[in-house]
Amino acid sequence: MQWETVIGLEIHTQLATKSKIFSGAPTAYGAEPNTQACAVDLGLPGVLPVLNKEVVRMAAKFGLAIGARVAPISIFARKNYFYPDLPKGYQISQYELPIVETGKLEIELEDGTTKIIGVTRAHLEEDAGKSLHEDFHGMTGIDLNRAGTPLLEIVSEPDMRSAKEAVAYMKKMHSLVTYLGISDGNMQEGSFRCDANVSVRPVGQAEFGTRTELKNINSFRFVEKAINFEVERQIDVLEGGGKITQETRLYDADKDETRSMRSKEEAMDYRYFPDPDLLPVEVSENLLNEVKASLPELPDAKRNRFVEEYKLSREDANQLTADRETADYFETTAKACADAKLAANWVNVSLAGALNKEGKDISESPVSADMLAGMLKRITDNTISGKIAKEVFEAMWNGEGDADAIIDKKGLKQITDTGAIEAVLDEIIAANPAQVEQLKGGKDKLMGFFVGQVMKQTGGKANPGQVNQLLKKKLGL
Ligand code: ADP
Ligand code: MG
Repeated sequence: MQWETVIGLEIHTQLATKSKIFSGAPTAYGAEPNTQACAVDLGLPGVLPVLNKEVVRMAAKFGLAIGARVAPISIFARKNYFYPDLPKGYQISQYELPIVETGKLEIELEDGTTKIIGVTRAHLEEDAGKSLHEDFHGMTGIDLNRAGTPLLEIVSEPDMRSAKEAVAYMKKMHSLVTYLGISDGNMQEGSFRCDANVSVRPVGQAEFGTRTELKNINSFRFVEKAINFEVERQIDVLEGGGKITQETRLYDADKDETRSMRSKEEAMDYRYFPDPDLLPVEVSENLLNEVKASLPELPDAKRNRFVEEYKLSREDANQLTADRETADYFETTAKACADAKLAANWVNVSLAGALNKEGKDISESPVSADMLAGMLKRITDNTISGKIAKEVFEAMWNGEGDADAIIDKKGLKQITDTGAIEAVLDEIIAANPAQVEQLKGGKDKLMGFFVGQVMKQTGGKANPGQVNQLLKKKLGL
């Protein structure tokens, strides 16, 4: 039997506001426990929530960016449940009338084709506190700093058909919210995490299979692994004659498996009702226009522009526009060195490789865009070869100065003096009579051998094109 995977994601994005969604307490990450929760976040009696206007603007911005409907009126509701990290006994969320409805996001698949994933809705809600199990023996600590932190929950249609598609969607969404500046997207700190809903069905069947929900995954790699494990598990159950129970499961990264948390029968009845302490949220035409005017260039548009303006391949442009900082870095470099393709190559290959190796973000790169451009100019004006440039780049990376200083100090200038190259060539020709005969006899491949020898002897400082010409001249080819 052939099976088809069906996936829908619920992504929780922490909105990058200074204060909380319903109080003035700060949202900064990493403070001492319980120093950033005020009476409202603690759910003390007698206090009232006041909506942070900034979260409304951010949600509207997001809605416009995914071509969704931004609701002129949306409603906050109470989602009632009891848990130690939720002292009010309810979470304020949006239920029946969310602020954003029916948008879409285009993802790029590995074979270069694109696919549209539907976004059902996005709603505003407050985060809960955190239980701390590790620091106490036989007890659990509660840190309410996170309580009241604004979240945008983005719910997709069940449009994805593989773990790879789900990762592509999650990455694209991450790219979008960070471009928009509505979230810092920090996954380690939990600012961007997702629940993956997964089911399988026989290929050709119209109805969806029963789904399970994999909770709280905070890395692209884990999403892929968790889904792949879960798909295998479901297929095993079904092929063994069993049934999938609709349930919530937890992905254990250490064991690379998912485990049941609670089934649908144990699922809570949240008794949603409109929060009587909060007015309906109004998004006026004015506000929408204002937000529209503030939208930055979005990833897809930037990618298309890079292809047009800089004549880059779509693949290169995709890689460069995956985050805003890389795109800015590339543009600064390309403009300063006037060779966009060369700049794209260096940013995507050498710079990306070096950053990756040291686990650094591009904002922490020891080689700035101007420094890289300075070096690329020395390639285009033939001062150094592409090969020597690798050495120069490494030296810049290690803090040895800018390209010109390094080229000077290490004597890396390309040899342009014809006489010097000819002298080396003469030696090599004399030492390899058999190869000379073969080359003269038409074995053109041997050109490479001679050029290689010259490069070796000059420490890579000869210009390969020039060596080629001189060799041909000398041998009368
Ligand atoms: P709930 O209200 O229980 O969270 P929803 O219908 O809102 O359920 O769906 C939650 C998520 O699950 C959405 O992202 C949706 O696309 C996805 N989903 C729904 N049905 C399936 C299914 N059969 N297989 C995979 N994903 C599904
Ligand atoms: Mg859900």
